[in-house]
Amino acid sequence: MQTAEIVAIGSELLTPTKTDTNSLWLTELLNEIGIEVKLKTIVGDDELRLEETVRDALARSDIVITTGGLGPTEDDITRRVTAKAIGLELVFRDDLLDHLRERFKAFGYEMPERNRQQAYVIEGSTVLPNPNGSAVGMMVEKDGKRLIVLPGPPRESRPMFTEHVLPGLNETSGEVAVRRKRIMVSGLGESKLDELIAPIYKEYENPVTAVLFSRTEVEVQLTATAKTAEEADAINEELAGKIVGKLGIAVFSLDGEAMEEVVGRLLLQKGATLAVAESCTGGLVGERITEVPGSSDYFLEGFITYSNEAKTRQIGVPAELIEEHGAVSQEVAEAMAKGARETAGTDYAVSTTGIAGPGGGTPEKPVGTVFVGISDKEGEKSIGLTLPGDRHLIRWRTSQAALDLLRRSILRS
Ligand code: AMP
Ligand code: MG
Repeated sequence: MQTAEIVAIGSELLTPTKTDTNSLWLTELLNEIGIEVKLKTIVGDDELRLEETVRDALARSDIVITTGGLGPTEDDITRRVTAKAIGLELVFRDDLLDHLRERFKAFGYEMPERNRQQAYVIEGSTVLPNPNGSAVGMMVEKDGKRLIVLPGPPRESRPMFTEHVLPGLNETSGEVAVRRKRIMVSGLGESKLDELIAPIYKEYENPVTAVLFSRTEVEVQLTATAKTAEEADAINEELAGKIVGKLGIAVFSLDGEAMEEVVGRLLLQKGATLAVAESCTGGLVGERITEVPGSSDYFLEGFITYSNEAKTRQIGVPAELIEEHGAVSQEVAEAMAKGARETAGTDYAVSTTGIAGPGGGTPEKPVGTVFVGISDKEGEKSIGLTLPGDRHLIRWRTSQAALDLLRRSILRS
């Protein structure tokens, strides 16, 4: 297997203001065609460090990809320094200068003299055109090593890479394809999940299985390696089928669909409508639902009923019920869902009520005590949860539990 490494160039990428996303995106694509990314480095706009990094990278890896530092400004040193690191000269290309001048003219400007330096490329390199910017990329081979130099802005580097680099790499990467499949699971903890499926996936060396926990869900990630993408997909599908068979309804999506997208799709398929009544999530459930394009086809209304009084006034939760059981209770969660469904006139309504903390907990109802309710034509149901985490996580996990309750109800009805 060929190995690659990525060098992200730019001092801003070392600070919290800007994240290097190029390398993540590149790694996924390289993995898919069977090129293993072993290392990535972020280097500031510093000549010595950059030269050292690129030189070392070329010594270690078959393919080195740099991004950034191809602009016309003083700190854009990539062109010069990468040439030095690979031991080649820069050559001036009149045709590139003409093209640059044309480009500026098309926008109604005279080309600033500074941009002249963008017409220098590494001798013997293939120039990678950039329809979205002024900096061309370069690809050059020396001593069996391949150096690929891409611009920084993702909207420039991505099309350049997929159109002008990837096809060539794919041809020479040998007959290896690596494909990933993601199985998203909700309502099961990491260890419980692993207990259920480990006996199944341990039978397989290929795909490799990883169980990953994120803030609201567990992801089972399968990575298959084969001669072709089709074969790798087939290998993944076989194991995925067994895992999904074991986990059943707990699997909420395959291939990266988010919970709110799944719920939206199910509502659309049913031609059903939805309202939400939210207390502790303060609109987060509605926010997630309406993030999905086309949600106006099924989402009609949201009630953010934070105070007891609002619960009664807006969606008719009986004041006595709140008095008797407390606002954070199964009874109130169900009454909120019922009231929202009746007030909005929808097929489904979900509700949330809970103690997100950090204050407000009691021995009987500690921080993280949450109830999510649902109302549909069958009546009302609710579940009580004790969720771990800080305020942000509790609110997020509550929204996920509400959406998941809805998903399960739609699937079961
Ligand atoms: P440069 O090519 O260094 O002039 O960078 C141009 C812009 O691209 C910078 O303002 C960055 O915001 C962005 N950029 C550079 N490198 C990366 C990277 N690795 N990931 C995401 N954005 C980047
Ligand atoms: Mg820069």
